[in-house]
Amino acid sequence: MSLQVNTASGNRRVRLACVCLVAIATLLPVAAAAKQARACTAGTTLRLSAPQASQGSLLLIEIKSTMPLAEVQGEWGGRTVPIWQDAPGEKLRKGLLAVDLEKAPGEYELKLTGQIATGEKMSCSAMVAVKKGLFATEKLQVEKQFVEPNPEQLKRANEERQKLRGIFDHVTPERLWDGNFRIPLDGVTTGSNFGKRRILNGNPGSPHGGMDLPGATGTPVHAAQRGRVALAEELFFSGNTVVVDHGLGIYTFYGHLSEIDAKAGDTVETGAVLGKVGATGRVTGPHLHWGLTVERARVNPLLLVKLLSNRPSEETRKKPSRPGTN
Ligand SMILES: [Zn+2]
Repeated sequence: MSLQVNTASGNRRVRLACVCLVAIATLLPVAAAAKQARACTAGTTLRLSAPQASQGSLLLIEIKSTMPLAEVQGEWGGRTVPIWQDAPGEKLRKGLLAVDLEKAPGEYELKLTGQIATGEKMSCSAMVAVKKGLFATEKLQVEKQFVEPNPEQLKRANEERQKLRGIFDHVTPERLWDGNFRIPLDGVTTGSNFGKRRILNGNPGSPHGGMDLPGATGTPVHAAQRGRVALAEELFFSGNTVVVDHGLGIYTFYGHLSEIDAKAGDTVETGAVLGKVGATGRVTGPHLHWGLTVERARVNPLLLVKLLSNRPSEETRKKPSRPGTN
């Protein structure tokens, strides 16, 4: 887990150490540098938080202009890139490039287009390579109904999947969050199992789309940032579930709650209690399943905490205690 987080977020110390070794042996960095080629119109620069991405990772985009920017849009791999302006600073825009945990490895072009305040067009482009994520495969034993649901349960699970898809497909055009994102459990600095490939009772299951945070039943679960509650109900697989819409296509997901303390439509502030840790739905024990979806891409939620704060995240390198899972 820690290796994957470090790789995905481009931990500078680790990366530099690796690059030095490779440079001596094979001159590979020359090829890597060519792949990072990026082009911007005069007066505009583009910076990415890491030179390449991996499945399930998130890169912070920064577009700087010598002239005030009027508007900027972004697209990567056929998906819109959320772009926003942190006040003050009309010459700077930030964005998030989100790589779904099952996105095919390869190279995809990031295209940013817009206008500066004088009306002239601006644009930037960059090729961003996606590497395969380093996800372990694990075998789990869960209740039989969660692997071989009866027709009624299957119908329910499919309807709920459609409902969630409908929520994640909706992009609220304004940014509802403001500031850093936090880990939803007090005192917890990391989690585990993000992206793990699963064998459930001997059958291949879908990859684990979130991160499992350790917590005893009844521990308060806090909103990672400000937003609007898009869903607050019991679902077949994730049990008592809350989904918060933070705007610009960014959603956080909180599953397996013992109790829900929010309702759909509520506006919640950062840290608001959404419910309590539990073991409802398909679980092996009490924990919080915490997910992050950006423009429908399932990404590691810890990376958002790290990228939108200026603090180094030593916590991602600590070995997590082993919570229940799923
Ligand atoms: Zn989970």
